[in-house]
Amino acid sequence: MSHENVTVFFDGRFVPLREANVNILTHALNYGTGVFEGIRGYWCPRQEELYLFRLEDHYRRWKTNARIFHMDITQTVAELCDITLEAVRRNHFQTDIYVRPLVYMSSARVGVHPDGNFSFAIVAVPFGVYIDSRQGLHAGVVSWRRIEDAAIPSRAKVCGAYVNSVLATSEAHRHHYDEAIMLNESGHVAEGATCNLFIVRNGKLITPSVNENILEGITRQCVIDLARRELHLEAVERPIDRTELYTCDEAFFTGTAVEVAPIVKIDHRPIGDERIGPITAHLRQLYADAAHGRMTEYFHWLTHTYQPALTPVDR
Ligand code: PMP
Repeated sequence: MSHENVTVFFDGRFVPLREANVNILTHALNYGTGVFEGIRGYWCPRQEELYLFRLEDHYRRWKTNARIFHMDITQTVAELCDITLEAVRRNHFQTDIYVRPLVYMSSARVGVHPDGNFSFAIVAVPFGVYIDSRQGLHAGVVSWRRIEDAAIPSRAKVCGAYVNSVLATSEAHRHHYDEAIMLNESGHVAEGATCNLFIVRNGKLITPSVNENILEGITRQCVIDLARRELHLEAVERPIDRTELYTCDEAFFTGTAVEVAPIVKIDHRPIGDERIGPITAHLRQLYADAAHGRMTEYFHWLTHTYQPALTPVDR
């Protein structure tokens, strides 16, 4: 489906997507010097509302990560949220959407040295299921290692770093896996190509800690919070060995796009009894309920698009 008529925020104004273009010599296009975000919006027909999920948290992460590259976005988190809301409202979306903020080094010239010029765009487009995980996924450890923080920081969501994710995904698909799992240079489990990874062992939730060369996922943190608060589970952040993938009881990915995606097989080895595990199923449901405004305790994760004055409970 073409999005060319969607109204987007580009270079300080709202324009149709077909006009939001850059020069072929743009620094970011040649050297990968952009930092992006991915945010979901959930359309709830019953409430006739579109909930943007953890909007402020995404913009906080975006601004912080852009600073690694000396791109200081002057707009406040609140202003960025307002631009996003306006972009969504101008398109009158009544469907699930994905929001892509992108800040990038914008000079069009040859040469790696940064000159301080950058620009940003915020694009919202209709978006549905990213990966169908209803039957559980078959994941595979690929030969590409996760990039090291001292080379290209995984936590930054920097455009150039996604070459690593593209190589991993391409290898995974050639081996007929649904999704890749990457190890880091220490040989520990890092994450998927576009998602964080959790395992369940002996009733305990385990995920790699933030210094294992992972993106510090917002969904990851939601799942840790939900597991602790709603299921009273212990959630541990520590290194995970490759063979723990083969001996765990349950495994799943988390991410804005994949949401909570159960894994039933890794490297051709069944996880548990090769069915979606009970803790995974429970967390997936809790996450979906929270994201769709069905849990009052988590309303603070949601931003209303069309009727900001109302909380879901008023309606
Ligand atoms: N790891 C990588 C490499 C990703 O690209 C993403 C998607 N942003 C994630 C993890 C999950 O992060 P989040 O839950 O914030 O979307």
